[in-house]
Amino acid sequence: MRAVILVGLFLAAFAGGIFLTAWAGGPGPGSGYGNAPLPEESKEQMKSMTTEKKDGPVYSKSGYDVTRLSDQKINELAKKLKPEERDVILAKGTERAFCGNLVDNHKEGVYVCRLCGLPLFASDGKFDSGTGWPSFFTPVDSAHVAYHKDNSFGMERVEIECARCSAHLGHVFEDGPKPTGLRYCVNSVSLEFVEKKDGKLDLPPASRPLATETAYFAGGCFWGTEDLFQQVPGVIDVVSGYMGGKLKSPSYKQVCYTDTEHAETVRIVYDPARISYKELLGKFFKFHDPTQLDRQGPDTGRQYRSAIFATDEKQLATAKAFLAEQSEKPRYKSHKIVTTVELAQKPGETGGFWEAEEYHQDYHAKHGGHCALPREDE
Ligand SMILES: [Zn+2]
Repeated sequence: MRAVILVGLFLAAFAGGIFLTAWAGGPGPGSGYGNAPLPEESKEQMKSMTTEKKDGPVYSKSGYDVTRLSDQKINELAKKLKPEERDVILAKGTERAFCGNLVDNHKEGVYVCRLCGLPLFASDGKFDSGTGWPSFFTPVDSAHVAYHKDNSFGMERVEIECARCSAHLGHVFEDGPKPTGLRYCVNSVSLEFVEKKDGKLDLPPASRPLATETAYFAGGCFWGTEDLFQQVPGVIDVVSGYMGGKLKSPSYKQVCYTDTEHAETVRIVYDPARISYKELLGKFFKFHDPTQLDRQGPDTGRQYRSAIFATDEKQLATAKAFLAEQSEKPRYKSHKIVTTVELAQKPGETGGFWEAEEYHQDYHAKHGGHCALPREDE
């Protein structure tokens, strides 16, 4: 479940104390909030909310792909902008105070990026700052906003941009209300408001979270398989657990010392637009030895068996075809593949996936080391 914490410029900015509340000419105070320091817990909250993969795509906790779009894609999106929107979004301009259409908007809903559609702020994070620009004390997800030091106009400010398309939004100041103490001062033209109607939020396609898929693989000690899959681009989340056994909610001790028939299994949530199920199967075969029966290296027992639990008929067919294809390879002629493949039981059912105890999650990330698994050789 590991997520690499990104301590970005924003936090560096806090540490360096570069936030200034004195300003002139751009969005800023005048609201009488004073110069309240950011509470420690807000800084911690920011850290825990912001996640990033080391390489490859970047996903937010709320389920969006926030990898920066290519310049080409941004240029394409920018064609739809009106001149006054271009001035702010692309040229980092500032709309005049009290002129934006969202300053006094008190309706319930979500504010998405005008350029790419990424949800940025919500009505429950908005407040009346009196500055003349829409003001928020928190974004919907800290990974959806990028922060940059801005020294223009002889001031030290922190500019805020959409993390996905770099659209200029405005600036963030340290004089906001509780609980964050922050004031995200945003231009109305950088945002588009999607109103919640009859309790329902009907987001346009570009503003919806990813349609993710799930895969389950058992390949020996789950500490190792979890660690390796966490590093695969396109993989959003990996959790260690037990699957294919005879009892509900088993403990590690039961799985180890009694005949529960569970296999140490990882649940992988992935982005099918970035990595296919077949590619994941390929990784699975690199991350463990599919020819060892009821063991992986020094770990022996049924819980260390090699197994694929398919979530639907399509995955089942793909997995069976993959095994057939692999078994034709010279390396598996003398050492036969023993990996089993079956349809997964639903979560909550006896044979379904049960999350392992917390101390097993992110084990290698927390404790270092690795299991006796073959590492990927490419
Ligand atoms: Zn955007």
